[in-house]
Amino acid sequence: MLELAFRAGSNPAVRKGMWVRIPPAAPDPFEGFECRATPPDVTACADIRALGETYVYLLGLYLGDGCISRAPKNVWRLRIFQDQRYTNLIAACTSAMAEVGGVRVGHVQRIGCIEIGSYSKHWTCLFPQHGEGVKHERVIQLKAWQNHLVWLHPQALIRGLIQSDGCRVVNWVKRPLRDGIKKYGYIRYFFTNTSSDIRQLFVDTCALIGVECRPDGEKNISIARRHSVQLLEEFIGPKS
Ligand SMILES: [Zn+2]
Repeated sequence: MLELAFRAGSNPAVRKGMWVRIPPAAPDPFEGFECRATPPDVTACADIRALGETYVYLLGLYLGDGCISRAPKNVWRLRIFQDQRYTNLIAACTSAMAEVGGVRVGHVQRIGCIEIGSYSKHWTCLFPQHGEGVKHERVIQLKAWQNHLVWLHPQALIRGLIQSDGCRVVNWVKRPLRDGIKKYGYIRYFFTNTSSDIRQLFVDTCALIGVECRPDGEKNISIARRHSVQLLEEFIGPKS
């Protein structure tokens, strides 16, 4: 935006009666990002300006069913759990983790599920929501740069959250018609999380793309309206 120099405060151009270019006031969402490694090492840290949809998807998985734990030598281990039946979801999580962290990703067999995990000194820089104790007992708030990325890729966050802590169910209903009984399948989506902050994040992100949510019991969010379900079907679908 152009403004007459005398409005530009202490700019030396004021005295010369020149026009000066005033930068737009919109704050840079990536400013204020800090490397949280011990010791901090910005050269080895994540380039958050290069992050995109894959990061937002991984953020959804982490917030849904992931954790970060301490490993020796100031290294962190990011762990995300997935039902062992869902081999495609395990593959999607593995490649997202490898791409975002630039690290080797391994699998550990647990009872009924697979732990997808990898080591990096910078996982807590990428996921500053990490803290002591369980997620539902602390405040979970996204940083400005994370909100910016979610705003750019809302579907990716919803997909990550549903694929870790949600489900898609089909209710079959029988209707008697003139030519016999017909079966209809009604699809519903649920998101279940004990953290009210994470549930609110899910609802707010759904609102960004016009998906209507309803609370269903204490910890569940349900999506049942046909238009909203159709929107989710376009980018989620059955787990496999
Ligand atoms: Zn870092």
